[in-house]
Amino acid sequence: KVNRLFHPEDTVVDVAGIKIGGKENIVVIGGPCSVEGEDQICRIAQEVKDAGGVMLRGGAYKPRTSPYAFQGLGSEGIQDMVEARKRTGLPIVSEIMGVDKIDEFVENVDLIQVGARNMQNFDLLKALGMIRKPILLKRGLSNTIEEWLMSAEYIMSGGNENVILCERGIRTFEKYTRNTLDLSVVPIIKRKSHLPIIIDPSHATGDWDLVESMSLAAIAAGADGLIIEVHDNPECAWSDGAQSLKPAKFKQVVEKGRAIAKVI
Ligand code: PEP
Ligand code: MN
Repeated sequence: KVNRLFHPEDTVVDVAGIKIGGKENIVVIGGPCSVEGEDQICRIAQEVKDAGGVMLRGGAYKPRTSPYAFQGLGSEGIQDMVEARKRTGLPIVSEIMGVDKIDEFVENVDLIQVGARNMQNFDLLKALGMIRKPILLKRGLSNTIEEWLMSAEYIMSGGNENVILCERGIRTFEKYTRNTLDLSVVPIIKRKSHLPIIIDPSHATGDWDLVESMSLAAIAAGADGLIIEVHDNPECAWSDGAQSLKPAKFKQVVEKGRAIAKVI
């Protein structure tokens, strides 16, 4: 089902009215790594919207390396996202970690993110195949393109064809950046599959100062959109502050990205 041979035209996934994929335009998603409360997420949602972002990200269930690190606000964080959507009209994307949360996500979230660490959580993928909400499937930390596409196949074989791929950097020997952005996946995915692909330059680099250049390169390479971490006080962010853009910088990236999308 992921294979372009059997589906020559580009798939366009509709996320609460926002279309991802196809030739027309690029979709830029912005928001904090973690939801930190209703005021914070509603404030950043408005800033993302004012900057030209069309969808809001925010983690409520966080897959942290250390069990002692902030684990996310859970259901409260999801409800804060729902409130931010109510106030701004932006559709919301958030990460699911387990099968037990599917009902909560189907009810509340517009685009359900499967994080890098769960790319091969096959029970979760099978369960997401049984619903019809769009899924944002991130590439695993050390997974090949074939493995990534087979994970998309798990979701699609259940009947849910609303899958968007997201490259977020892979593990290499290089330690200067948090991960290594594998940009060649964009034309490779376009060759092998009809699914939309977006780039996450924030987790790919771990460094806000690299986010603009990698975003523009991703658009030039043919990506269908970007998902970027945005925080209005990155120094105090509860997670991933070092890779988060301030709203003014995010606005610049959105504008330059759109300009590049027009000429390619
Ligand atoms: C995230 O989007 O905040 C996240 C944890 O991403 P990844 O799964 O790519 O590490
Ligand atoms: Mn993050």
